[in-house]
Amino acid sequence: MNQKQIIAQELHSTQSALSNIDFKSGQTFKGQGEFPLESFPRLLLEMPLAQRQNSYKVEWECLSWIDVLPTGQEQYRLKIKALTTIPLTCQRCLDDSLQNIEVNSQFVLLNTQAEVDDFPLENDDEDALLNAYEFNLFELIEDELLLALPLVPKHADQHCQKYLINISEPSEAQLDEVDDLIDPKTGKLNPFLQLKKLKLN
Ligand SMILES: [Zn+2]
Repeated sequence: MNQKQIIAQELHSTQSALSNIDFKSGQTFKGQGEFPLESFPRLLLEMPLAQRQNSYKVEWECLSWIDVLPTGQEQYRLKIKALTTIPLTCQRCLDDSLQNIEVNSQFVLLNTQAEVDDFPLENDDEDALLNAYEFNLFELIEDELLLALPLVPKHADQHCQKYLINISEPSEAQLDEVDDLIDPKTGKLNPFLQLKKLKLN
């Protein structure tokens, strides 16, 4: 598969420039830059309320090209990268936890919805999208960031208070409780003592 040799147009890093790209013009594009997180309202909603006025940034990068198949048919392709670090609620301790969100996706832009629908879902290398005269790359970046969010955000074990408490040494009270269940004659845990204790309670 050969790549068509044309010079890529530079995209400005503004929301309006990225919201309306003519990918059907036969031109290819490249660009990079950064946006404040507030530019992505759906992503902002995923963050804890108290954190939403703090400033976080999203870095982005994109490149498009045209592959020429042996049949002479041209296929338009697009690669996007995006990177941000935002606080999400740790589902173990419910505290804020900074998470790195990374997007690295490739798409083939097809000309009809039927072709997009027929595109094999199990393709791990790229997804199919409908090509357009007014392609919204900005929205695609936000969609991909949302897809890249962890299903269950969590601190790394060593940074999670709840995890650290659960694996810490048992307390005096917990040790006393175990002592009560040890049969003084055998020195072993006696399940009958446990039953007796349950009844007394
Ligand atoms: Zn945690």
